[in-house]
Amino acid sequence: MATRTPFLRAARRHLSSSTAPTPFVSILLGKPGGGKGTISKWLMRDFGFTHLSAGDLLRQEVNARDSQLGKEARQYMDKGELVPDQLISDIILSKLNTARTVEKHSRILLDGFPRTLNQAHLLHGQQANVEVSLVANLEVPSEEIITRLSDRWIHQRSGRVYSYSFNPPKEEGKDDETGEELIRRSDDEPDKIARRLTLYDVETFPLIEYYKNKGVLQSFSGKEYPELIKTDKRSQAIYKLLAGHLESQLPPGL
Ligand code: AMP
Repeated sequence: MATRTPFLRAARRHLSSSTAPTPFVSILLGKPGGGKGTISKWLMRDFGFTHLSAGDLLRQEVNARDSQLGKEARQYMDKGELVPDQLISDIILSKLNTARTVEKHSRILLDGFPRTLNQAHLLHGQQANVEVSLVANLEVPSEEIITRLSDRWIHQRSGRVYSYSFNPPKEEGKDDETGEELIRRSDDEPDKIARRLTLYDVETFPLIEYYKNKGVLQSFSGKEYPELIKTDKRSQAIYKLLAGHLESQLPPGL
């Protein structure tokens, strides 16, 4: 693990010598299974955000043959535990660095990172020194999360998500586009869901106060859209509010 810090020093040198305009960096904060992935896709489509999902990046490592990082991460992910802070921070900060300096993306969305105070310190601390313009806190009750995750099926290669209650595949057990088998995520079993929700309360919830104090937190619960508040439409209700907020907040021309 100690070998990872030189990367951060190099990234920081690179960032400080870069002339790229400061991008609008936004964070999606919320319980696992609360719709962060779905909302991220809509933000990419409607606002041109570049999406960096901690969970997706970790799953890519896990699925890559011969990835030491993937092997290490898997031991934690299969149990519903968080991977070590330094491991995920190195992956995300490396991608973020490329997105803003090499690819010059001006709207960047962090989904599922940071998830602990320590990760937030790595993101905003001296070495990476990332400024965040908006932290969108998506509020979804835990009972809904349990209902959703207990019925979540995925197509592993594409990440497409299905649910038999509100977004069923055309053919049972098969991905609509490829016809390949749908699977359950190993961390969507009931005991792992419970563990992930507990970890959220203990490790991630303190970030709400942290970002409130920084003056960048906005919470969205979607209660203002009662016609959409049913479990299956809640993401749309939250998205309406978030999209409205972004329309008024995004700097013109960025
Ligand atoms: P997600 O797809 O966001 O639900 O993440 C799936 C799993 O990846 C989590 O249960 C953790 O094991 C791991 N993970 C994702 N993001 C983080 C993070 N920021 N810190 C630590 N572990 C993470």
